[in-house]
Amino acid sequence: LKENNARHLWHPMAHPADSMANPPAIITQGDGVHVTDVDGHRVVDAVGGLWNVNLGYSCEPVKQAIADQLEGLPYYSIFRGTSNDKVIELSYVLQDFFAPDGLTRAFFTSGGSDSVEVALKLARQYHRARGEAGRSKYISLLKGYHGTHFGGASVNGNEKFRHAYDPLLPGCVHVPGPYLYRNVFDATTAEDLAGKCLNMLEKTIAFEGAHTIAAFIMEPVQGAGGVIPPHPSFMPALREICDRHGILLIADEVITAFGRTGTETGSRHWGVQPDFACTAKAITNGYFPFGAVMIHARVAEVFETGGKIASVDTGYTYSGHPVGAAAALACLAETDRIKPWTNAGPRGAELKAGLEDLADRFDVIGDVRGEGLMCAIEFTSDRATKAAPDMAAVARFQKAAYEDGTMVRVSGPNAIFSPPLIVTSDDVQTILRSTEAGLRAM
Ligand code: PMP
Repeated sequence: LKENNARHLWHPMAHPADSMANPPAIITQGDGVHVTDVDGHRVVDAVGGLWNVNLGYSCEPVKQAIADQLEGLPYYSIFRGTSNDKVIELSYVLQDFFAPDGLTRAFFTSGGSDSVEVALKLARQYHRARGEAGRSKYISLLKGYHGTHFGGASVNGNEKFRHAYDPLLPGCVHVPGPYLYRNVFDATTAEDLAGKCLNMLEKTIAFEGAHTIAAFIMEPVQGAGGVIPPHPSFMPALREICDRHGILLIADEVITAFGRTGTETGSRHWGVQPDFACTAKAITNGYFPFGAVMIHARVAEVFETGGKIASVDTGYTYSGHPVGAAAALACLAETDRIKPWTNAGPRGAELKAGLEDLADRFDVIGDVRGEGLMCAIEFTSDRATKAAPDMAAVARFQKAAYEDGTMVRVSGPNAIFSPPLIVTSDDVQTILRSTEAGLRAM
């Protein structure tokens, strides 16, 4: 298996030779917050699958719902105006879950990149329906990650995911975001930085012309870019700027929806109602590829003239897949029962405090960031200059942490922690112990 994994499989964005190389983590089983590899080594999965297995690997109601749905109706399309019972039921349940965010309609997809693509398209269609077809540009934040399709790659704020595919979508403008550690403005506090970023955004809008801009897209907490929470003033002020200029706000909640920040949704965490919320990942706890773009009532209204939903000229064979819908319904029922955000907040605070304590003792940690159960440490080889870390040492960190009992994700200079939201304080202590083992190996 190990040899075939390295030789016959194209791994997205990584190769076993340089990612979890020793040992290559070939996972064969999962239970609770643990996964077990092909050698029988069982670890806490502090990656949480890929920020998606919020309810852990043993969520019986979701497994059962998938099995039952496969037995009854394994597939039927909603592409042609036909439907299936599960997806209709799900649209009601999602409407309830997202009601405080003002999001009342769902457009179903097969994952996060699809959800982003749909939101970007619907933003343009919205403006066109209102006679403002000139609004076609998108603004996004540096260090943002919005999936891998052409639209999402175009608004991604990380060059690494873009350069191989140029030219991308024209009219995508990137502005600095809330990354304080090495910020371009020499801001010293998150609040100061937020103000400076918003000022730059205003200038960018003036330069581009507000009448040319369709939407602003952001993650409520940037994830893949290294877990970067904005100052609490940032997203509300951004909402106000978008409103003033007629620009739609797309919240990419592929990671943050369903509790990860310690609140039901990332937008709610900051007290903002977006125009679109892109969801996927935890909507099925990672057990089935599925997603939904949630649409605000005031936007939906424009598409729903005369009580009839206008044609949305995009969609997928698997939009509204009944097995995905059944999995999502079971997840939402379980989520409603255990309210995982109530655990994500305090466990996230324990994890962040523990990481801060490690930062006091290990110079290789330059920065500690976190919001709920999204946490990261950023490594540096020199605290004074904030120089990039020695990546061979970072690889040693990851290997030693894994051997000690925790799977940690390393992305660039960051170690990222996004365990299932059901972790206990004991699990958090295990993660911290393994992190310390990794730091010693570094
Ligand atoms: N948006 C964000 C914020 C993400 O983190 C991701 C995936 N990590 C995506 C979009 C893309 O989702 P997917 O990989 O399911 O296509």
